[in-house]
Amino acid sequence: MADYVGAIDQGTTSTRFMIFDHGGTEVGRHQLEHEQILPRAGWVEHNPVEIWERTTSVVRTAMNALGLDAGHLAAVGITNQRETTVVWNRRTGRPYYNAIVWQDTRTDHIAAQLDRDGRGDVIRTKAGLPPATYFSGGKIQWILENVDGVREAAERGDAIFGNTDSWLMWNLTGGVDGGAHVTDVTNASRTMLMNLETLDWDDELLSFFGIPRAMLPEIRPSSDPDRYGATLRTGPFGGEVPLTAILGDQQAATVGQVCFSPGEAKNTYGTGNFMLLNTGTDIVRSRSGLLTTVCYQFGAEPAVYALEGSIAVTGSAVQWLRDQLGIISGAAQSESLAAQVDDNGGVYFVPAFSGLFAPYWRSDARGAIVGLSRYNTNAHLARATLESICYQSRDVTEAMAQDSGVTLDVLKVDGGVTANRLCMQLQADILGVPVSRPVCAETTALGAAYAAGLAVGFWKSPDELRANWNEAERWQPTWSEERRAEGYAKWKKAVQRTLDWVD
Ligand code: ADP
Repeated sequence: MADYVGAIDQGTTSTRFMIFDHGGTEVGRHQLEHEQILPRAGWVEHNPVEIWERTTSVVRTAMNALGLDAGHLAAVGITNQRETTVVWNRRTGRPYYNAIVWQDTRTDHIAAQLDRDGRGDVIRTKAGLPPATYFSGGKIQWILENVDGVREAAERGDAIFGNTDSWLMWNLTGGVDGGAHVTDVTNASRTMLMNLETLDWDDELLSFFGIPRAMLPEIRPSSDPDRYGATLRTGPFGGEVPLTAILGDQQAATVGQVCFSPGEAKNTYGTGNFMLLNTGTDIVRSRSGLLTTVCYQFGAEPAVYALEGSIAVTGSAVQWLRDQLGIISGAAQSESLAAQVDDNGGVYFVPAFSGLFAPYWRSDARGAIVGLSRYNTNAHLARATLESICYQSRDVTEAMAQDSGVTLDVLKVDGGVTANRLCMQLQADILGVPVSRPVCAETTALGAAYAAGLAVGFWKSPDELRANWNEAERWQPTWSEERRAEGYAKWKKAVQRTLDWVD
């Protein structure tokens, strides 16, 4: 009996496989990290072969631990780090180059040029995105221009592109022996190559980057009753399971948080932070530095869109405290260290390591720690780091209110950083709005499982899923209005320092 649905969550730092039951409760998981390859300042790469191997391991280990086989799974969905770009040869199965990760800024010159000659505005209108290093289009162009033989192979249709969803789907469904080359509307909406209205690759946008259409995957709904394919008997599942969902990680978390109505939003705190506001079937164009993106498309239903505030560096600033500064030995220690002091001691930290994303979109910005005095300690810096996560999220909520008129009465949160209770309390204080975390913290994987299960009738409708959402914890604002306003004004001043650093 197929009592469960599986989700492969291919994230920036790790890949996990999770198994859920009908109530949306986790019954098992396994997770493995992969290497972060940092060849130069600003460059971030992953090895796609390592990611595929990790994926097969986490699936096998989680299934074996529970004694499950393919027949126990009604369907499997994939959710993935978005934008990260893989180009591989469909005849050999070998990548031409490491995956260029979303945080990588090597395509700075490509993004800047797009805005100098007016193409940027066409991208804004058609794709809903500001030209930035973040998205896949420039990364594909870079590989075409810098890796020998790729352009010719791409023209022939041998070199093909995908984000990690497509890469895994292709491998899971047979690889060189006819693997499916597909993606979904949410991933495609992060490339600068898809037209938000037609939901198809756009020839004018492709021409901006010199990308042959032959290298692109077929764009499909996020939850597809006409499955993309099935897993193989010889693959990690050891049998056939329908593969019926693909969702970019942030869109998956929005589904996992059951934000199915216009005006509902969630904020995910991982390596970076991503707030998505469901805007229904309307394409809302941002005037305040947010992205317009596809939220999900279930089967033959019309696509649902979202406004998104993407923040490049939040949890990874905590990693920086651990790995580069060595002032904490693990991410959780950021909480106990920050709790040693009552406030930030005047210190503000803007971790603009990859430039600043929403709502500033300044790839030339660089990080700054300001307001230091001799009195300050590591504890103040830890607290300023947690506050930076919350202040960046406040910037995004302000932009959302301007663009949509929606002011949140509660913020639904998830992701690794939400384990940090002090950080969540600071978030409520800095926003002046309660913060609510659900019982299932793994909303990304859960959302992919939901989308996969909906496609095969394991769940009947999105409404049925709402009943699975339960609050675990809620934080109420405690700061006075005055303190909140003063803190935010100082934060804005600190951000200004990072913008005027580079000439
Ligand atoms: P991703 O899916 O982007 O890989 P996760 O949701 O797994 O991210 O979250 C991982 C991030 O959360 C890391 O950047 C880590 O530094 C941060 N993190 C994990 N636990 C804590 C904690 N207790 N306090 C602060 N940050 C944390």
